[in-house]
Amino acid sequence: KEMDDKMRSRIENHPCYSEEAHHHYARMHVAVAPACNIQCNYCNRKYDCANESRPGVVSELLTPEEAAHKVLVVAGKIPQMTVLGIAGPGDPLANPEKTFRTFELIADKAPDIKLCLSTNGLMLPDYVDRIKELNIDHVTITINMIDPEIGAKIYPWVHYRRRRYRGIDGVKILHERQMEGLQALQEADILCKVNSVLIPGVNDEHMPEVNAAIRERGAFLHNIMPLISAPEHGTYFGLNGQPGPTPKELKAVQDKCSGNMKLMRHCRQCRADAVGLLGEDRSQEFTKEKFMEMS
Ligand code: SF4
Ligand code: SF4
Repeated sequence: KEMDDKMRSRIENHPCYSEEAHHHYARMHVAVAPACNIQCNYCNRKYDCANESRPGVVSELLTPEEAAHKVLVVAGKIPQMTVLGIAGPGDPLANPEKTFRTFELIADKAPDIKLCLSTNGLMLPDYVDRIKELNIDHVTITINMIDPEIGAKIYPWVHYRRRRYRGIDGVKILHERQMEGLQALQEADILCKVNSVLIPGVNDEHMPEVNAAIRERGAFLHNIMPLISAPEHGTYFGLNGQPGPTPKELKAVQDKCSGNMKLMRHCRQCRADAVGLLGEDRSQEFTKEKFMEMS
C-alpha cells in the first residue's frame, strides 16, 4: 500500500502514465538517436523506431545542441510541457553519446523537466548507473518475447559488442540483456514501463508469459501495442505481409494480462519528434527551421 502511494505520486503528473494527466500535461520527444543495434522484422529503417513511435513517420534528426535549444523554445511556448523523452528514431542506447549529451544539456538548462528514455534493452545494463546519475526516472523497454524460439521469428539479427549474431544466438543475448536491464532498473529504483508489439500468430498467445516475467522484475506498466502493418511502412523483413491485430484481438490479449497489473491503454505511439498533449501533434510548428528562429 505504501509502495502504491509512492508510485502514484511519481506518475500522477506524467502524461503517458496517468490517464488523467494526459489531458493536462504535455510531452515532447527529440529525435537525436539515428542508429540501431538490432533488426526487428517489422522495422523499416527509413522511418522512426517502430517500438516506441508511430510507424511510417520520418522525424527530423537533431544534434544534442539543437535538441536542447528546441526543448527550451517549446517549454517557453507550451507551459504544460513537463516531460522530455528520447525514443529514436533508432535506439537511444545505440547512440549513447548523443543521447546522454542531450539529457545533460537539458538537465542543466531546464532541471524541472522530467526525462525519459526508450530502448530495445540490448545496451541497458551498461547504462543504468548513468541513467540514475542523470535522474532519469522513467525508462521504457520494448520486450516482445521471453522465449528465444519466438524471438527468432521477430529478430533476424542482433549487433552486440562489435559482432553480429544471427537467429536465435542473437535473440538469446537480447533476451538476457533485457531481463538484466529490467532487474537493474528495479534495483536502482528507476520506474520502468514495458512496451510489447502484439504480432498475431507470433507472440499473441505468449503475451501473458511476457506480462508475468516483467511484473516479477518490477515493471510498473505494460503497454501492449498493435503491430501497425502497412506496406508503405515497410514491414520488409520476415514479417512481410503480416497483418496487425484487429482492435478486438488486441483487447482480448490486453484483458488476459490486465488481471495482473496496470496496463496502458492510451499510448498514442507518438512520433520520435512529437510535441504537445498526447492527443495532439504539434511537431510541425516546431520544425528545425522554425524553432531556430524562435527563442
Ligand atoms: Fe527498428 Fe526500433 Fe527495432 Fe531498431 S529497435 S530495428 S529502430 S523497430
Ligand atoms: Fe507516451 Fe506512448 Fe507517446 Fe511515448 S509513445 S510519449 S509512452 S503516449
